[in-house]
Amino acid sequence: MTLVEMGIPAVRSGRPSLDGRPETPYLVDRFGRVARDLRVSITEKCSLRCTYCMPEEGLPPIPVDELLTVDEIVRLVALAVTELGVREVRFTGGEPLLRRDLEKIIEGCHERVPETPLAMTTNGVGLRHRARGLAAAGLGRVNVSLDTVDRLGFARLTRRDRLDSVFAGIRAARDAGLAPVKVNAVLMRDTLSGAPDLLRWCLDEGCELRFIEEMPLDADHEWARAEMVTAAELLDVLGARFTLTEAGRGDPSAPAEKWHVDGGPATVGIIATVTRKFCDTCDRTRLTADGMLRSCLFSDQEFDLRQALRGGADDDDIAAIWRGAMWNKWAGHGIDAENFVPPERTMGAIGG
Ligand code: SAM
Ligand code: SF4
Repeated sequence: MTLVEMGIPAVRSGRPSLDGRPETPYLVDRFGRVARDLRVSITEKCSLRCTYCMPEEGLPPIPVDELLTVDEIVRLVALAVTELGVREVRFTGGEPLLRRDLEKIIEGCHERVPETPLAMTTNGVGLRHRARGLAAAGLGRVNVSLDTVDRLGFARLTRRDRLDSVFAGIRAARDAGLAPVKVNAVLMRDTLSGAPDLLRWCLDEGCELRFIEEMPLDADHEWARAEMVTAAELLDVLGARFTLTEAGRGDPSAPAEKWHVDGGPATVGIIATVTRKFCDTCDRTRLTADGMLRSCLFSDQEFDLRQALRGGADDDDIAAIWRGAMWNKWAGHGIDAENFVPPERTMGAIGG
């Protein structure tokens, strides 16, 4: 298997250029955006094999000595908050619950930056056993990914029969105070007709549902622009069962556009990454599980913070690399461009 097939970019850049960058500690870029939201992937391993994300056999394992350690993650998170203006941190993967030291990561970050909201995106499998401990460690919120409430449909698309475990995980998170639990569902042809049932389930369980347009980040490279389900199609399907009233976006950098359901106050969100892209308000910066800094899901330009950390870089050096990486962030993903090429890493290898 080649590096590219493994989802690992073959070329990694050295130090990013800071030419033309204004004097500011924050993570600004050439298009006037400021990154405030840090996504930290902590593993490539996963308990499911969603067809829009992972290959059937899972991603090739990252050697243990190439994974960032608890101390390294805590150091980078604290630096991002105290030196670079990051205001919110979300742990993701792969499946973050598959790291046994997840509680230590959360606890360490919470100790260093107690005012900063810490969140996690998870598939919910096994969450019922960890929710209380994670909340006690300092985790504030969880987003659980769930695309359908139909057991056979779930098993087909995740290649695992674990729907009951996800339900239990969502309820345990809510009971542990990790609320409001947001549920993320990727829009797919296969599950579109079940979207109203999923919304009904989320309303009944007090969860906030957000649908996400599928992006070309699947390991099997089966995504096709012409076949993807769009936000507009979803609105038609949901509109047949519910009365939806546009509620806007609230925070302009929030990716989800919201609709009130049956007069509210409950809402449903749609993250129309492809058909109504919001790159011009993007406020993300990303760290992969093996310590690479990425400024965009779709850009293969990465900066090696693991090597910098282990080579003895001080906080000023790391901050300079981070600022440079973000200064050179590109304008947008260009999915609709004729010459669009998907990134070499897939979603599970970047962290969604
Ligand atoms: N395993 C965790 C989970 O599923 O929530 C965290 C990692 S997963 C890569 C993060 C998010 O990315 C999930 O909400 C998942 O549905 C979403 N995702 C994965 N592949 C995607 C794709 N091709 N397009 C859009 N979203 C995707
Ligand atoms: Fe695993 Fe999450 Fe990817 Fe599904 S979306 S395969 S749960 S990492």
